[in-house]
Amino acid sequence: MTDQNHPEPVDAPARPSGDRTIDFGAGGSAPFGGLSIVGDGAPEATPLAGGPSVAVADGAPVETKVLIIGSGPAGLTAAIYAARANLEPVVVAGSAPGGQLMLTSEIENFPGFPEGIDGPELMNRFRAQAERFGTRFYDLDVDRVDLSTRPFRVWARGQEFVGQSVILATGASALWLNLESEQRLRGRGVSACATCDGFFFRDKEIAVVGGGDSAMEEANYLTRFASKVHLLHRRDGFRASKIMIDRTYANPKIEVHPNTVVAEVLGDAFMDGLRLRDARDGSERTVPMEGLFIAIGHRPNTEVFRDWLETDEQGYLTAHEHTASRIAGVFIAGDVADHRYRQAITAAGDGARAAIDAERWLEAEGIAEHATQTAW
Ligand code: NDP
Repeated sequence: MTDQNHPEPVDAPARPSGDRTIDFGAGGSAPFGGLSIVGDGAPEATPLAGGPSVAVADGAPVETKVLIIGSGPAGLTAAIYAARANLEPVVVAGSAPGGQLMLTSEIENFPGFPEGIDGPELMNRFRAQAERFGTRFYDLDVDRVDLSTRPFRVWARGQEFVGQSVILATGASALWLNLESEQRLRGRGVSACATCDGFFFRDKEIAVVGGGDSAMEEANYLTRFASKVHLLHRRDGFRASKIMIDRTYANPKIEVHPNTVVAEVLGDAFMDGLRLRDARDGSERTVPMEGLFIAIGHRPNTEVFRDWLETDEQGYLTAHEHTASRIAGVFIAGDVADHRYRQAITAAGDGARAAIDAERWLEAEGIAEHATQTAW
């Protein structure tokens, strides 16, 4: 439980922070790159529309024409399109469904929401729309795939899924600094999710690491709670967009510290300070600090597919023609293949493209009837 004065968790599993990071296993705890939550004891995120996931009843393989792995904007948009084409898609959504937007505060750039919308709420709506047209969801972690023969086979926590086509939409996960002290104090003051954990830092002095839009957005969001937010960036140029930089500098509760590297997170039961290094001269100083939010980018969740599909040097899947992978019948959508745009709207667009490509392929293979005159 949460002490009013401390962002709790004494033990990792009990942490209140909800620091949920979808992790398809790259170096994580999942055995085969299975989708898992990094950081135990995640609190209830905003409940997803449509109630609990479909239970796995008898262990028999779940068969579908379109098997979608991942439940962020790409996977759910693919589901909406495939469902409306009567392809009865199945989504293996992971045990922390909804993707990165579940960790996001207000989304201001998703068209159709002029007032902005919370990430979890947006994903609730995506999922409700997919369910409305008959998509079946399994909130399970994928741990193995076999793309060698058709139909393709996927396993998630012992349940087998069989898909005539597969859409891979597993997204990307937040990066960490990978300091021993950072990992030890995760959930004890260190977080990668301002939306989940900001509330616990009311009237506290905290820091955000990063120089991109995520860091700026999180810093601004956290000023709703914190008495002061220090933005720490390792150099003096920012990747963030001008509007976010301007907003950050204009916020009286944010102090920007360029050329500043986190050398160590200090604290025993809870974080209570930072050892900072000046990137220019290497000098160090220690500052009291009660919270640290890491917002330094993402890595693609592709571990489980790497034996089957090509990746680029950063590990992102590469599509060959439109959304098609080099394996006929396997399609790719969203951030799992995109380190350029990485937007909810572009991922959603990718999901639509992948569903259309999958349907056309199924038709060409004689697996699905041509019935999409009005589907799109
Ligand atoms: P970015 O890759 O854009 O930025 C990551 C930042 O973290 C960089 O400043 C980088 O520093 C820094 N960084 C990376 N690794 C480390 C490390 N080990 N130690 C310290 N600092 C590190 O990622 P974002 O998540 O910010 O943004 C991703 C995409 O999402 C962007 O396209 C962005 O525009 C978009 N986005 C849009 C939003 C909006 O429109 N409201 C909100 C959030 C994201 P360096 O610059 O030195 O490499």
